[in-house]
Amino acid sequence: MIGIEVQGVVKRFGETVALQGIDLSIEPGELFFLLGPSGCGKTTLLRTLAGFYFPDEGSVKFGDKDVSRLDPHKRRTGMMFQSYALWPHMTVWDNVAFGLRQLKVGKAEREQRVREALVSVQMDEYGERKPNQLSGGQQQRVALARALVVRPRCLLLDEPLSNLDARLRNEMRLEIRRICKEFELTTVYVTHDQKEALSIADRMAVFEKGRILQVGSPSDVYRRPESKTVASFIGEANFLEGEVVRTGAGEALVKTSCGALSGILCGFDEELAEGTAVTLCVRPEVLKIFDMDPGENCIAGKIGDSVYFGEVAHYEFLSGQESLRVSELNPKPRSGARSEGLFLYADTEDVVVLPR
Ligand code: ATP
Repeated sequence: MIGIEVQGVVKRFGETVALQGIDLSIEPGELFFLLGPSGCGKTTLLRTLAGFYFPDEGSVKFGDKDVSRLDPHKRRTGMMFQSYALWPHMTVWDNVAFGLRQLKVGKAEREQRVREALVSVQMDEYGERKPNQLSGGQQQRVALARALVVRPRCLLLDEPLSNLDARLRNEMRLEIRRICKEFELTTVYVTHDQKEALSIADRMAVFEKGRILQVGSPSDVYRRPESKTVASFIGEANFLEGEVVRTGAGEALVKTSCGALSGILCGFDEELAEGTAVTLCVRPEVLKIFDMDPGENCIAGKIGDSVYFGEVAHYEFLSGQESLRVSELNPKPRSGARSEGLFLYADTEDVVVLPR
């Protein structure tokens, strides 16, 4: 197992600065995600780890070894890219064996390792087939076996599941996690799909414009975003502008146009003064609707539009000039009088106070 250390990495393409000084420390055996909008530099960082790009500034270390200027084939990384198709004219077995032939691994060991790799992705009964005789998910498993067979020091995955349908994606993402953990592989995984990241990542980095905005576990990033950009990129969020009334013990009471809410301070370097302009972030699922005034941390208003999905309903809650999205699990029928004179309540620990 190796850790990956990225220090001050800058990568330019002509005028474009794709990476603007990235510092990142990935633990040995960690399943680490790079997330962010299109063009933010995720693939560029992954390709810099693979050795397809050399950084213009800064360094990349695998364990203690500086690999910044090492060619890709000397880094012993296993790669699986969206466009990394299998060779159509070769059998599954030969596709997986290919990398070992290049490494000049002898026949007996080669056979054993190909078998092991195919067993690990549950494709050992398909060795004689050609890729066009496999489903999309099975092809993806073979691509994973091909990346694993060279016993990589780390696994680099770029949107590996984007060609699959939703059901297969769910199945394969759990499979990828199982394999990474079983082989104790340090894995860096690029995706647009926040659900993919939230469901299997140990930690993730959220990028914007070649910079890292936040690094943390899925629940850190979801529950404690440090900026509006991160909060709106991961999951859904309501934002309310307000002013600090008082602070203490990492919390603040904030006055907004529709009521006062207290929340947890995130993303502040300094003590907050009374009157500071801030933004509250409240996720739709933390808001609870009450018929009676719960007394504190609540907003008065009424339900506007609503959409019923059976297990959950989505409401538009109107309070003064504000409109908030609310999700209610196991929703009760609400119509007429039951949709007016209502209160929205949120626990302090579910409300995040962000810098404006
Ligand atoms: P996506 O999610 O759309 O794949 P990304 O976050 O992976 O995006 P990158 O592919 O890393 O983004 O691109 C980062 C920036 O660098 C973009 O502005 C892109 O246009 C630019 N870029 C990437 N590769 C090259 C290249 N080979 N030559 C010139 N510009 C490039």
